[in-house]
Amino acid sequence: MKQWMANCRGCGKLIVWTKMQSGRPMPCDPEIIRFTKGGTQAYVTPDGFVIHGTPKQDGELMGYISHFATCPKANGFRKG
Ligand SMILES: [Zn+2]
Repeated sequence: MKQWMANCRGCGKLIVWTKMQSGRPMPCDPEIIRFTKGGTQAYVTPDGFVIHGTPKQDGELMGYISHFATCPKANGFRKG
């Protein structure tokens, strides 16, 4: 299984863990976002790649935003 749902240990929000190509799981926000390639936002694709892009409603790519970027408890979470 490459993805599984859980609750963040820091803030309690629902997150989706995605197994990266490196083999390490990455916690992401559960909303999948359409985007186009080229931009400053890092997206995690469901098959475990990080692609930088710009959100776009009819974008050809889909990905998640890392929960590290949005978690209010990210500092403590990183250490944990
Ligand atoms: Zn969190």
